[in-house]
Amino acid sequence: MDMQTIYDLDLQGLEAWLKEHGEKTYRAKQIYSWLYRKRVLGFDEMTDLPASLIAVLKETFVIMPVTLVEKQVARDKTAKYLFELSDGSTIETVLMHFNFGKSVCVSSQVGCNMGCTFCASGLLKKQRDLTGGEMVGEIMYIQKELDAEGSRVDNIVIMGTGEPFDNYDNVMLFCRTVNSDHGLAIGARHITISTCGIVPRINDFADEHLQYNLAISLHAPSDELRDRLMPVNHAYPIPVLMNALKRYSEGNHRRLTFEYILLKGVNDSDGHAVQLADLIRGMNAYVNLIPYNQVDENGYGSTDERTALRFYDVLMKHGVKATLRSKHGDDIDAACGQLRARHERNRNDS
Ligand code: SF4
Repeated sequence: MDMQTIYDLDLQGLEAWLKEHGEKTYRAKQIYSWLYRKRVLGFDEMTDLPASLIAVLKETFVIMPVTLVEKQVARDKTAKYLFELSDGSTIETVLMHFNFGKSVCVSSQVGCNMGCTFCASGLLKKQRDLTGGEMVGEIMYIQKELDAEGSRVDNIVIMGTGEPFDNYDNVMLFCRTVNSDHGLAIGARHITISTCGIVPRINDFADEHLQYNLAISLHAPSDELRDRLMPVNHAYPIPVLMNALKRYSEGNHRRLTFEYILLKGVNDSDGHAVQLADLIRGMNAYVNLIPYNQVDENGYGSTDERTALRFYDVLMKHGVKATLRSKHGDDIDAACGQLRARHERNRNDS
């Protein structure tokens, strides 16, 4: 059987595990420090632990749960990592360099069942959820690389392959670990969870009053269009989604982000921008307009820069704040799931 990664245990879980094994619970913070401050990859390096404890840790856990299969680096330094997990599954993680710091976009599932029609990840059905520790591994692998140049992961977005709210408990464990002062100590406000709109989990999240950012993949301003682009809309149509979001935003005093991928001739007209503004105006929210990285299989095209700027202007004129994200890594397989989709195709062909 595959060995579990120790990253699967949050601090509390590690304390419980130590207690169960007749060890002192204060060892949890020592182990955490070795894992997340000194970032060692072998239990033998944990020199302040008794040899007997090191032996049990080695019998029970591995540390790093991912191995690198392929890495592509774009001209703008965006790096895309294809990782293999212990069961042979592959996932993608992306490192982006912004002027406000380094952001890592992590995957939360192997494949995705949400079936958004513009998404390369949706082409490969969900095989399984990632464990919290596997997600931590995505960050730790990249942090280890950044250590060599003396820099760190500043922001995390859970926006890669998978729907985080379809894997709620593991995603929350991941967030706790990277956010913990004893873990990577990445501030909650630097961690963004992006959902396509699973309303019951948005309500759970609202009730937990956590400080992580919430982003909603909206991508269409009407049910008629969103039904076509995102099957999840049949289950949770826009009015139901907006009610849940208002409840979250008002109860938590947090600003929401609406993600909106601009698809040429599909959702990028002035009329769409006005509809979108009408939906969001008055909320504590802004719209993040994202250029589409074309995925050959889906037949969508990317909106040209002039149309994107006009869309942005219409939103601003109608009282909605927006940002227009620049394209990242469009000279590599940068669309979400694209590198993995190609890898899986090659694997099946061979
Ligand atoms: S956009 Fe996100 S939720 Fe939709 S299919 Fe792709 S990975 Fe899944």
